[in-house]
Amino acid sequence: MTYILDTDVKFLPGVGPKRAELLQKELNISTFGDLLYHFPFRYVDKTRIYAVCEVSEDLPYVLLKGKIVGFREITTTQKRLIALFTDGTGSIELVWFKGISFIQKNLHAGSVYTIFGKPTSFNGKLNIVHPELEDMVKVEGQITSGIQAVYSSTERLKDMGLGTRAISRLQSTLLGMALTKVEETLPPYIVEANRFVSLGEALLNIHFPQSPELLKKAQDRLKFEELFYVQLSILRTRTKRIKAGNGFRFEQVGELFNHFFYHNLPFELTTAQKRVIKEIRADTGSGRQMNRLLQGDVGSGKTMVALMCMLIATDNGFQSCIMAPTEILATQHFKSMAELLHDMSVSVALLTGSTKKPERRALLEKALRGDIHILVGTHALIEDAVQFRRLGLVVIDEQHRFGVAQRGKLWEKSEHPPHILVMTATPIPRTLAMTLYGDLDVSVIDELPPGRKPIKTVHFFDSKRDRVFGFMREQIAAGRQVYVVYPLIRESEKMDYKNLQDGWETITQAFPAPQYRVCMVHGKLKNDEKEAAMQEFARGAAHIMVATSVIEVGVNVPNASVMVIESAERFGLAQLHQLRGRVGRGAEQSFCILMSGVKLSSDSRHRISMMCSTNDGFQIAEADLKLRGPGDLEGTMQSGVAFDLRIANLGTDGKILEYARRFAERVLDDDPLLSDGKNELLLKTLGKLKSGAKDYSVIS
Ligand code: ADP
Ligand code: MG
Repeated sequence: MTYILDTDVKFLPGVGPKRAELLQKELNISTFGDLLYHFPFRYVDKTRIYAVCEVSEDLPYVLLKGKIVGFREITTTQKRLIALFTDGTGSIELVWFKGISFIQKNLHAGSVYTIFGKPTSFNGKLNIVHPELEDMVKVEGQITSGIQAVYSSTERLKDMGLGTRAISRLQSTLLGMALTKVEETLPPYIVEANRFVSLGEALLNIHFPQSPELLKKAQDRLKFEELFYVQLSILRTRTKRIKAGNGFRFEQVGELFNHFFYHNLPFELTTAQKRVIKEIRADTGSGRQMNRLLQGDVGSGKTMVALMCMLIATDNGFQSCIMAPTEILATQHFKSMAELLHDMSVSVALLTGSTKKPERRALLEKALRGDIHILVGTHALIEDAVQFRRLGLVVIDEQHRFGVAQRGKLWEKSEHPPHILVMTATPIPRTLAMTLYGDLDVSVIDELPPGRKPIKTVHFFDSKRDRVFGFMREQIAAGRQVYVVYPLIRESEKMDYKNLQDGWETITQAFPAPQYRVCMVHGKLKNDEKEAAMQEFARGAAHIMVATSVIEVGVNVPNASVMVIESAERFGLAQLHQLRGRVGRGAEQSFCILMSGVKLSSDSRHRISMMCSTNDGFQIAEADLKLRGPGDLEGTMQSGVAFDLRIANLGTDGKILEYARRFAERVLDDDPLLSDGKNELLLKTLGKLKSGAKDYSVIS
């Protein structure tokens, strides 16, 4: 007999074949279980009446009780009706754009009403637009409704009568049929240890909360369970990898490393850099294959760490390669490495898309013979033609730029998987790293090289452009250089290029030749044009570089001390932070100027003020995660999240995640193979989850 939750959803009364097909298409619901785990995305709480003075735009829907003091009608571009509503603690405006005559007929100044709606802020004033009318009854009786679930649906489903209320009815029918037959998915000892409610009770309360307390209990259990299984699965993969013992052993720190350290290193390493090199040294010397993520803010000196680790590989007779996301960056790495190693017998080579054929052929032969020790390149390194004699270490710079499959190809080049070092300047908040990169060990460079002055970040409205230009002139007169960056957002390419062109004109007019030289870089330029403009700026021949966000990654021009970001409200936090990292690389005080229009959404305002208040990439990443949610976080789209979280939120459920992780560790410490009888259920549930998910057990 099939388990009730595996039953086809078309057999649920109220569904039928047509709706079932649509449910499958629109929400990926095909079984009773899928429907039951289609959790509400929010709840409306009508059990509590808020005081107007407590209301802020951050609150979700609120219920208010008070008096309408008076109405006024405004006719500018669009007619609207505004009512002033007060409960004695404060007042708020109710706004209608539609149905105005109906409201005027039915609502009366001086009467008491309860209203329900989402507070927003407009021109600095709080208001509620189109408050819910069902509750727009004079308060005589009392409010009957409690906490109600709201489900996500789609236009097509609504057309078929499957809006949030209908889904709620289906859940009720389903719970009636299935609740007593739902099998527990956590072993009793885990349920007891955590004083969780049973699965059945959790499912009931998640859809039909009996009280706020029971809803919380249901959420706690379901979130824990979800994150716990993810962690359990990740940690098992990790244990297997570490046990396998198939890593190359870099026995020694040899001649090359030592020579470099004592003679060629142009500066003292920071404590954090030293620590990370030690961590990598321990990994690569252990006989286990290394999978390490190196996080370090822009400018923290990751490249040097990579280079020194590659020298250890060379010392042990292994080749290494480092892959960068852009040609500009790969070339920059190559040049600086070749220079740093100029008097040493280490052979460094560069391979990019524009390496000429004969040169390329010679290079590939040398790589295969093992005559190249360090190969620097772009994604050209991935091609099958690139083969090594003994590839021991792969470094991937700015990892979020590469897709999972691309990266996978690199380590398939070697029969034995090489050690992997993935470097990123987009700091990944702990919670996300623990989930996305749970199988990677994480190293952090949490310290900038000494002598860097923190970048000063300020926000200006477009109307203050003259002041900004004045400031740019001062800086240029003092010998500095300036970036001016325009947004480039794929969907509206045409408009973006128009912005860039307009910007170019404004800048070249305000900074005319021959006194000033302005260069421009954007994605539509040919490689050599791009390179020429970059070089012009890097040499100091141009004062201003006008660019799109192509310069986001990598470029290193220490003399550039001002970053002006146009339409800053259109950039995400992570991107703003990356762009800002282009300055502040020299000894001079650097500045980041965020320009924006006057009309800002509350999210944009939040992002801009966050940027002005901190330089800490981790803090910014945490804020970004909270603002946007992990699905949107730059890089996660391609990072290979093998699971959809249905209830837990990596942005806000960090505590539960850490707890779940520790719990999973304890379970595995105690019973690594999950062979104990009490863990049978864990193994079974993991198996079910695995079969439904793509296999991303290799790092990414
Ligand atoms: P990122 O971590 O952003 O890749 P880079 O590796 O490009 O940073 O380093 C930024 C700059 O800092 C480079 O010019 C590099 O030479 C310099 N640098 C790296 N480590 C140190 C250090 N310990 N002391 C001084 N300068 C350093
Ligand atoms: Mg870098």
